[in-house]
Amino acid sequence: MNNNNEPQIAHELREAFEAVDPFIQKHTALVCPSCKKVCCIAKHGRHDEKDITFLSALKFETPCLKFDSNDTDPCGFLNAEGCSIERWMRPFRCTWFFCDPLLESMKGDKGRAYRRFIESFQRLVLLRQELLNTPATDKQQFKPFIRKA
Ligand code: SF4
Ligand code: SF4
Repeated sequence: MNNNNEPQIAHELREAFEAVDPFIQKHTALVCPSCKKVCCIAKHGRHDEKDITFLSALKFETPCLKFDSNDTDPCGFLNAEGCSIERWMRPFRCTWFFCDPLLESMKGDKGRAYRRFIESFQRLVLLRQELLNTPATDKQQFKPFIRKA
């Protein structure tokens, strides 16, 4: 990385993860308990290079998982209550993934809460791009709800 503001941006990014968490959590609590194909599998719970760069900027050691698990095994961070680590510690894909039922639930939460979530989510994406010095893509910047289960 070559960004002199790296520590400050990393802290702002952590706050941005914390800002979007309650809204996402509210809706995962509504839809995930009845899910027939849970997305929290081992391959989704592995941190990639960019996740590690962000956590390192916070001087935080990446949470360890067993890397010998099969990709489709349940994620090692998953327990009976859901994900056992805070959102900012998770791989980024765990925050930008929205299956259709989750997306529908969120969109049903009309008004200020939804608008504030969208604003917070876009700020999160932009901060992450700034920290990681990666170019914005239309998909990431303007269409946060892009991945299908
Ligand atoms: S986010 Fe969607 S795919 Fe993942 S566990 Fe919840 S309902 Fe299932
Ligand atoms: S949200 Fe948590 S339990 Fe689910 S894949 Fe990500 S790290 Fe694993």
